[in-house]
Amino acid sequence: MPLTNTLPTADLQALDAAHHMHPFTANGALAEKGARIITRADGVRLTDSEGVELIDGMAGLWCVNIGYGRHELAEAAARQMRELPFYNTFFQTSHVPAITLAAKLAELAPDNLNHVFFAGSGSEANDTNIRLVRQYWALKGQPERRTIIARRNAYHGSTMGGGSLGGMAAMHAQGGMPIPGIVHIDQPYWWGEGGDTTPEAFGLERAGQLEAKILELGPENVAAFIAEPVQGAGGVIIPPESYWPEVQRIVDQYGILLIADEVITGFGRLGHWFGSQSYGIRPHIMTVAKGLSSGYQPIGGSIVCDEVAQVVAQDEFNHGYTYSGHPVAAAVALENLRILAEERIVDRVRETTAPYLAQAWSSLSDHPLVGEAVSRGLMASLALTPDKASRAGFAMEPGTAGYICREYCFANNLVMRHVGDRMIIAPPLVITNVDIDMLIDRARRALDQTLAHLH
Ligand code: PLP
Repeated sequence: MPLTNTLPTADLQALDAAHHMHPFTANGALAEKGARIITRADGVRLTDSEGVELIDGMAGLWCVNIGYGRHELAEAAARQMRELPFYNTFFQTSHVPAITLAAKLAELAPDNLNHVFFAGSGSEANDTNIRLVRQYWALKGQPERRTIIARRNAYHGSTMGGGSLGGMAAMHAQGGMPIPGIVHIDQPYWWGEGGDTTPEAFGLERAGQLEAKILELGPENVAAFIAEPVQGAGGVIIPPESYWPEVQRIVDQYGILLIADEVITGFGRLGHWFGSQSYGIRPHIMTVAKGLSSGYQPIGGSIVCDEVAQVVAQDEFNHGYTYSGHPVAAAVALENLRILAEERIVDRVRETTAPYLAQAWSSLSDHPLVGEAVSRGLMASLALTPDKASRAGFAMEPGTAGYICREYCFANNLVMRHVGDRMIIAPPLVITNVDIDMLIDRARRALDQTLAHLH
């Protein structure tokens, strides 16, 4: 069947609703209100099947770090497909793209994170991490160290392992998650859950839950703690400054492995190559995906420290994916990393666009609907509220105001996502200050329209 780009939008929508099961979507609703169909993209802009241009405030799904339309990546893929479209890395075979990418990641990653286990996605990489940390402790003669501590409202993927590590109540309500051996503590979400405490005290309190949980389980039973440096899909929740230093102290004290899920924060989003560097954290494993290839190819991985890799290397690790280190994905990722470095995109985020976004975004906090307007690097969020002083939720079903606002953003040709009643952005890292202004104008217009709608 040829691609159906020439069909009218309504026909595409009907085919889509009839045959295509969408992720994280009430698919029945697609029959009534068809999906918006994106046909092209360039830089930070998308074009839909009606020829309308939108600013992509979400970089696809937090992944198109270098922006759309970089033909160098297409050429890298075509070159690699002609030379070696596939080979595996099982059973003592390897190939040049996987070797080169692993070495490159070892060079970019901080400290002694020098070893890479490749996967096809962030979810797969987090499944790998569950296996890796348990195998590490088993080989160290402590097989009872199996439990992994994670956080409520975290997102670590959608496989059974990733979804279980994540703390999304709506996901756990379906399909029998979490799997055994994974427990959750509360998130460091001061605006929503901090009440009268100061952010600093609240950050310490929420980090303290990690220590309490380790002691409750017995440190001898705990394998690892996993967390996103900044929670993305949970609503761009930026922890208080006190949080991460205290978490680092606790994992050091009890000898627990720290897994930083850098699927969103990796490759420049927070103005450093990795979010861990932005917060001064020293993880034993970092999960990466998304920005590794800027989403041009599906690829993820676990970047593992010397100690864990050397212990796991003592025995055969009975784990892997057909597409671990896929040569075409690896070649595209290498080209993406070259562009990020040579065009100083990560530095520009830190020095220019992130400070500009921080100042421009915070101007939205004067809007009557906005309770907080926060950003870190090029991730930002707004908390919608009917009452800033009390930080109250809306009387209607949670998430309704956010959904309405998202629809007005769409109508104003801006892709901004809502998580409950938080509005979030994570634009391509190549966004300019002029485009940031345009994005914020559209967001303000959508907020005004949402306010009018709610009254
Ligand atoms: N971890 C984090 C922090 C994520 O944000 C995501 C996806 O949004 C994942 C893991 C899962 O990655 P993937 O969708 O590539 O499986």
